[in-house]
Amino acid sequence: MKHFKILSSAVLVASLVALAGCEGDNGATGAAGAPGAQGPQGPGGSDGSDGSNALVAQTELPVGDANCPAGGIQVDSGTDANGNGQLDTAEVTTTGYVCAPGRTQLSANELRTNVNNAWFAQGESVIARARGNVQTDAPARGRAKNVILFVGDGMGVSTVTAARILEGQRAGKLGEEHQLSFDQFPYAGLAKTYNVDAQTPDSAGTMTAMMTGVKTDVGVIGVDEDIERGDCSTVAGNELVTALELAEIAGKSTGILSTARITHATPAATYAKSADRNWEDISDMPGQAVTDGCEDIASQLVNFEANLEARYAGLDVDGIEVVMGGGRRHFLPNDPAANSPDAVSGTEGDRNDGRNLVTEWTTAYPGGVYVFDEAGFDAVDADSTERLFGLFNESHMQYEADRGNDVAGEPSLTDMTRKAIDILDNNDDGFFLMVESGRIDHGHHAGNAYNALNDTIEFAAAVQAAADATDPEETLIIVTADHGHVFTIAGYPKRGNPILGKVVDVGATDATLASDGMPYTTLGYMNGFGFRDLGGETDADAIYGFAPVSGRADLSSIDTTAPGFHQEALVPLGSETHSGEDVGLYASGPGANLVRGTNEQNIVFHVMDFAGDYVNAANDALN
Ligand SMILES: [Zn+2]
Repeated sequence: MKHFKILSSAVLVASLVALAGCEGDNGATGAAGAPGAQGPQGPGGSDGSDGSNALVAQTELPVGDANCPAGGIQVDSGTDANGNGQLDTAEVTTTGYVCAPGRTQLSANELRTNVNNAWFAQGESVIARARGNVQTDAPARGRAKNVILFVGDGMGVSTVTAARILEGQRAGKLGEEHQLSFDQFPYAGLAKTYNVDAQTPDSAGTMTAMMTGVKTDVGVIGVDEDIERGDCSTVAGNELVTALELAEIAGKSTGILSTARITHATPAATYAKSADRNWEDISDMPGQAVTDGCEDIASQLVNFEANLEARYAGLDVDGIEVVMGGGRRHFLPNDPAANSPDAVSGTEGDRNDGRNLVTEWTTAYPGGVYVFDEAGFDAVDADSTERLFGLFNESHMQYEADRGNDVAGEPSLTDMTRKAIDILDNNDDGFFLMVESGRIDHGHHAGNAYNALNDTIEFAAAVQAAADATDPEETLIIVTADHGHVFTIAGYPKRGNPILGKVVDVGATDATLASDGMPYTTLGYMNGFGFRDLGGETDADAIYGFAPVSGRADLSSIDTTAPGFHQEALVPLGSETHSGEDVGLYASGPGANLVRGTNEQNIVFHVMDFAGDYVNAANDALN
């Protein structure tokens, strides 16, 4: 009779009482209680004397009944013609229904389970926080005094998820519930990463889109899609203006950090225009391009101020204040005499034009500081330093896990971020800073999840350092990736299973075996170098001394969580590839609320422009 527990209709109650009073009787029915209050049962009538045998039968109806969707009672009445004391189907003359009313609210019992549940409470708190954000982050152009763009190169969504779990597990948690620094940002959306002429993109086209607001071709830097890649003569007239240039024109301080070569595609797209991302120094360029007057990327970095001023009549800017990364080889002449004190190669420099761009920079900026190692970096006093140029390696900087092996030491990405903000915030008009973790991408290209994830964790720490060093009321921070990788989190491992480990099913303790009888890892790649066990090796690039392999290996006795473990891959390639799916956009600060939905990647520029009012401010400065 559970259906009656929630009945509140006085009419229905009265009807039931009346029905109960009739059964088996043929005398007069007692008066029904007054509607609205349960009336007392009427007095039973005296036994009949006329032998009449009218009967009424009640049948309870379940929820979902065709006549009473919320349940109720079917009331059949008729005469017991055959005298068997029961109302047989053939004897029914009238059928009626007393239906329970439909439910109009959740019962307290149902909700009580939820509100005392931690997942439920956590979701409620997120909504409460989001509502607060909507109230305080109303769109207002130009509210961001500072803008910081963090780019995790190759940091696709699966990389973020796996790094989050690894960081959580290192902190003693199960891992999946953990949040990286930027997971906690109030706004997020997605970016479509394809290049104008490529389904799966590269960093040059994607970073150009983010820095200029214009999507373009794969492999080109700071120019639109009318460019012919590799053809210097097509550059003129197709150059784009970048957010960093606009900020510079508007009088803000500017900075670029990368753990890759500072002439590599992602950082280059903040300051250079090039028909080919590979023109990092003049020795990388075809003779025709040099003859046609195209300038290599390293030279464009050192000549940034002069080149920008040459583009606009009367413009006077002060150049980029902070530049740090790797890539010394592109700045130094191909002459051992120009080697840095901590050079690894016999001849560090690649330039075949005899120029030493480091010397040119220190001459152009006598008040600036050039550093090449950790000690020099540590000695920089941010409060009194107006300009800083750091080139810490001949090529890319080390993977974070391998940093201790650097000859003269290198700062971490977090160290560089902190120092850069300390210098840039000396300008009361604010700053623009781009921070790239370039080697997440390289760890993946080498098929080594350990370094890709370890560098992602360091990247998240740098984001946290930036959030800690700035005021969220005046600083827009956007965190995103240029593209993803063919990197997957697979199988059905149980909660808390080591993310770098082998799949162990829910409820099991031993590694799950595949159809070939061998265990398999949760993390893997669709293509690339494939399996290699390099044990404790912290340099993912050590793989390049081996040939690619494909398919399965017996991992039974192999520690897949070791830094030198390279995951299996299906398709053998000399370098694991980028992927074509969307990447995450995470944002905090003024204008962050514009980051929502699924977007073309060039929206990143437009969010920064709105938040910092860059185009208007630059135009005002030019007029
Ligand atoms: Zn890449």
